[in-house]
Amino acid sequence: MEGLRKKLITVAILASIFLVMQLGVYVLTINEFRVDLRTLEDIDSFMENVLELRRYETNFSYEITQKDIDEIMQYTSVLRTGIQDIHKSPVAPQYEEGLQEFTNNLIAYDKLVLKARETGGAEPEAIRVYGHKMRMFSRKVRDINRAYIAERLKSIMYIPSTIMFLFGGSLIVALGTLTVATIKQINFIKQTTRKIAQGDFRHIDSSSAGYDTYPMIIRAFNRMIGELDSRQEQLIQSKKLAAIGTLTSGIAHEVNNPLNNISLTAEAILEEYDDLSKEEGIEMLDDIVSEVSRASNVVNNLLDFSRIHGQMILEPIDIGNVVKATLRLIRNQIMLSGVQLKTNLARERLCINGDSDSIKQVFVNLCLNAIQAMPDGGLLTISIHTDDEKMIIVKVTDTGTGMPPEVVDKIFDPFFTTKPVGKGTGLGLSVVYGIVNKHEGYIEVNSAAGQGTTFTVAFPRRPMKNDSESCS
Ligand code: ADP
Repeated sequence: MEGLRKKLITVAILASIFLVMQLGVYVLTINEFRVDLRTLEDIDSFMENVLELRRYETNFSYEITQKDIDEIMQYTSVLRTGIQDIHKSPVAPQYEEGLQEFTNNLIAYDKLVLKARETGGAEPEAIRVYGHKMRMFSRKVRDINRAYIAERLKSIMYIPSTIMFLFGGSLIVALGTLTVATIKQINFIKQTTRKIAQGDFRHIDSSSAGYDTYPMIIRAFNRMIGELDSRQEQLIQSKKLAAIGTLTSGIAHEVNNPLNNISLTAEAILEEYDDLSKEEGIEMLDDIVSEVSRASNVVNNLLDFSRIHGQMILEPIDIGNVVKATLRLIRNQIMLSGVQLKTNLARERLCINGDSDSIKQVFVNLCLNAIQAMPDGGLLTISIHTDDEKMIIVKVTDTGTGMPPEVVDKIFDPFFTTKPVGKGTGLGLSVVYGIVNKHEGYIEVNSAAGQGTTFTVAFPRRPMKNDSESCS
């Protein structure tokens, strides 16, 4: 998750930088706005001064005092400096011309007031005209600035929502990207675990797999794969050793028993040779012959067992035909056991690359075991079908005794048997297992005590290059 953490930190840093920058812009804008507001205040007081100035105008028609004139002069001087404030406004260019005219009017107004003070002869009409012009201009200035401030306010109010929108948008994009990356990683973990579960212990190559964004997971997986691989190897080794142990003690037991019996019977014949009746002699010799045949059976099975580890000649064969030939071989046993047979064979030819005799042996062993598991009769079903066109699957099902899990675990071990001495050698299923393996197939068992058993054998289907190709 190293890559993911890096990405999260990068996104957090970028988002913070973005937020700080936007806040900086916002603070600057607010500061500028404060300056503009102060200019508007100055313009408002400029207009108020014009109004104050005009309050004295009516006095010119009647009686103007020295005090009035002094105050008028004070206002006109304030207005002269106020012109600078009006100049400062960012919208000043809109009333630049009027400003010059206002200055001229103010000078003319001043002159008329001075004349009134010096000569006492006022010109109230002219003073009013100038005053009116100045008032109109100051109102215009105030209105233009107010409109400007209102516009500014509107745009400032949009800034926070724009920041939130941009921030939220980029956050969604970042989160989306992170989610996609996370899903990719989860999929990668899923695929890898499936691969490991299927027994593929090859190390993951980060560069060729294109997963270089999360090297930590790959390292962890490779470590785990290494561990699993070595443990599996240890397990196989210890299983092999256990199997060799069972095999040797099995051989010793299976061959020693008949040899012992032969030796005991032969000694008895020697000791009691003169006293034995003809019938007794024949019976004892019969025992010897049957014990020899038991021992030779074990040896034959062992030969079968070793043969599957040697070379087999694989040729195109139709699995349906092999099953039919097997059933012909064991027809008698089926009839004698009172077991019913049901087959469900595919109509089409289902070809595999196989050794016909070995595969017959697979089905003979499975069917004989099934028959033996149904001492009171039952149903033996054999079916063939294809699975996703790649494998051909044969199922051998019986309604017999079934097996508890601890027996199922051992049935493919050589010499494992639950049958009484003389009835089973415990080699049948290990031979079956070896043959199926040699054909690159697999065998599975599904069984429970008292519930019957199903053996599923699968062989890879032989790809047919053209229609003229056939299998027998
Ligand atoms: P064997 O038949 O000589 O005992 P196998 O290797 O063929 O040797 O079988 C091993 C054991 O598996 C049998 O002893 C039996 O306990 C069990 N087994 C095999 N097939 C079946 C079956 N169809 N139903 C119940 N048990 C079975």
